[in-house]
Amino acid sequence: MKLTLSLIKADIGAVGGHVRPSEALLKCVKEFVANEGSELLIDHYIGFCGDDIHILMTHEEGTNDKKIHGLAWEAFKTGTEVAKSQGLYGAGQDLLKDSFSGNVKGLGPGVAEMEFEERPNESFLMFAADKTEPGAFNLPLYFAFADPVYCPGLLLSPSLSEGFTFSIMDVNYTKGDRIVKLSAPKDLYDIAALLRDNHRYVVESIHNTKTGEQAVVCSTSRLHNIAGKYVGKDDPAMLARAQQAFPATGEIVAPFEIGHFVGGLCRGSHNAPLMPVKKNSQVAYFDGPPLVQALAFSVKNGKLTEPADIFDHPYWDWVRDKISAKTVEMRRQGFSGPAMLGFEELEYGGITERLERLDTKFTVKKER
Ligand SMILES: [Mg+2]
Repeated sequence: MKLTLSLIKADIGAVGGHVRPSEALLKCVKEFVANEGSELLIDHYIGFCGDDIHILMTHEEGTNDKKIHGLAWEAFKTGTEVAKSQGLYGAGQDLLKDSFSGNVKGLGPGVAEMEFEERPNESFLMFAADKTEPGAFNLPLYFAFADPVYCPGLLLSPSLSEGFTFSIMDVNYTKGDRIVKLSAPKDLYDIAALLRDNHRYVVESIHNTKTGEQAVVCSTSRLHNIAGKYVGKDDPAMLARAQQAFPATGEIVAPFEIGHFVGGLCRGSHNAPLMPVKKNSQVAYFDGPPLVQALAFSVKNGKLTEPADIFDHPYWDWVRDKISAKTVEMRRQGFSGPAMLGFEELEYGGITERLERLDTKFTVKKER
């Protein structure tokens, strides 16, 4: 069967600042989707990562479907009323428009969707991240899909032998989706040259070059482009199919051991390592650390198994300890140099205004 996976996420309010959605808010969104989606959806799963609620839906309506997007939009709208009634922080903050116009893209929520012919043993991973930026997945995807050190399948499996084609988006471009397609290993250095800039270039999707099958889709919209001003980091989500024509689950998750530095953390204005965390983890330290969850699913005729929580394992406790130390090491230098993001990425306008004011106070020293 042709199956569509739709992952739609939004921050519509959180307890005690940007920590996590309340139980009442989650209950409201879950009940709304279960009731209103009972005819439309085959199955669904709802969870949270930090202050973001993610709705994963399986159905046969294809991508960009008005009914599916409308269901998620209405679930978030209804949830926002609960968030407001409880005084949650940032109630409805990712719903940037008042009315739904057929597609949640451009309205605030993040979307990652793909349609494919379901395999007899379809395995996929759902990633959700918080307190970071869309480019946070660039490096792990590069390693998992283009580097035989992390993905030995590129050497060992005939079905991966021609590598993968990356569709990379220029998120600074605001007049539409500006995308370049590059294939690894042929264009490896071009891919690396773009993906080094997590703020500007973001992996949008990845396909198996030989079979054309889609392996990955990432949410790519940027809230500060949509809104015309900065309203928060666009915490990314991603779907990745595993096994057979794709890397093994282990190859896809292995690069998250690095804890690479990404933009995010407190006020979305710092560089900090991305920490793999357990399912439904809240924010814990300095409005961070940047978090990522990985839930593995099997799906048959659109029916999901329970999620297997990849980062819930003693191995990842050890990784988290290392990344905590790395976080603190960078935090100790406060606002200095690479600890804080460059001016063009800073979430809050205060420092720009401060520098403009200071600029008028500079005087040129007269030579004698
Ligand atoms: Mg968030």
